[in-house]
Amino acid sequence: MTIAIEMTSASAAFVEKTPLERYVAPAKPSLIGLSREELGRALGALGVPEAQRKMRVQQLWHWIYFRGFTSFEAMSSVSKELRALLAEKFTLDRPEVVAEQVSVDGTRKWLLRLPGDPDSGLPHDVECVYIPDTERGTLCVSSQVGCTLTCTFCHTGTQRLVRNLTAGEIVGQVMVARDRLGDWPGGTRPTDGVVPTGGRCITNIVMMGMGEPLYNFEAARDAILIMADGEGIAISKRRITLSTSGVVPNIERAGNEIGCMLAVSLHAVRDDLRNELVPLNRKYPIEELLKACRNYPGVSNAKRITFEYVMLKGVNDSIDDAKALVRLLKGIPAKINLIPFNPWPGSKYECSDWEQIEKFSQVVFDAGYASPVRTPRGRDILAACGQLKSATEKLSARERMALRAMAMTD
Ligand code: SAH
Ligand code: SF4
Repeated sequence: MTIAIEMTSASAAFVEKTPLERYVAPAKPSLIGLSREELGRALGALGVPEAQRKMRVQQLWHWIYFRGFTSFEAMSSVSKELRALLAEKFTLDRPEVVAEQVSVDGTRKWLLRLPGDPDSGLPHDVECVYIPDTERGTLCVSSQVGCTLTCTFCHTGTQRLVRNLTAGEIVGQVMVARDRLGDWPGGTRPTDGVVPTGGRCITNIVMMGMGEPLYNFEAARDAILIMADGEGIAISKRRITLSTSGVVPNIERAGNEIGCMLAVSLHAVRDDLRNELVPLNRKYPIEELLKACRNYPGVSNAKRITFEYVMLKGVNDSIDDAKALVRLLKGIPAKINLIPFNPWPGSKYECSDWEQIEKFSQVVFDAGYASPVRTPRGRDILAACGQLKSATEKLSARERMALRAMAMTD
């Protein structure tokens, strides 16, 4: 049994799964994901005197997160003895890449294998997706194997196997992507696919892959703080967006302890419908969610919250819904992101007609919001939103073909 089921009432479907799959650290752990303090402690355990630790941490940080080194040997500023000691006790391993797919539009998807649970014997896989544009490149990062929640339109939500990623496994996705894209100083860019013309391949990060980051708060926080550290990967917190389905108690914490941009998966303007689409709404209904958004630490017109709204044909896409949406968000510094629904085999919804999306978006636009419709990318490799479901529950070849065909005729 890999999940526990919580019933909110006799008739209600379950709201949360408990991540029961265990993380078992490798015998020789990777330093990736340790904060500066933790790195200092690890050095202390190796016998590095207190007075030297800060300087050593600084050196290691540079080699690991600025230069992207994968072994200790070439870290020329670190003494030979310490390099040998580090290599004996630690690695700089990233998650293992088991597959890489490049979509016709340049989107890249990596299937990553993490240490599995020896009890269940099941592999722990996550996906990480890179979406290049002319001047920027966005990396979509996962926070859990599967997801604790069960949104009815989301493929990831149907996965039974759930475990939280460690901070190292979350930052590790950025490291892997930068390795593969040659995105470290002096790196070589791939010759296939598309990369932006500017200096860096990865300019933005979104925590919108598999999993609910606010149900894996500490690891998501620690990982984001490493990504944003100015002496390492150095992606500004304004270019890192954490997407949540509405874990209200952790929204304020995210503002205070992380300080990145926030996206909220709203998807419905009435509690009865949101209860169905995002069952977590039964625990934290719309009013409470929006109150937390109003009070999000740091929110301002210059730092708006993105509200995501998946367009489901005949379900949440009426003009009345659009009007209710702008009424509901009044007074909140907001952006609205309309997402065409990405169907997956077995899903019970359809994407709204393009004409309807345009009408809906016009209402939003007339209310003063730029309402970009997030175009689905990478559909031919199943990398678009909500389709991230790892090989632990593989789609049949036929299902993949069907999906690919759908993407091509889009
Ligand atoms: N758990 C977080 C982040 C991961 S989901 C959250 O729910 O916000 C990232 C985004 O993709 C969310 O807005 C989610 O609602 C959306 N999404 C999920 N399934 C989708 C699908 N099939 N089509 C389009 N968007 C989807
Ligand atoms: Fe989880 Fe987000 Fe999917 Fe909901 S939409 S099941 S919270 S990944």
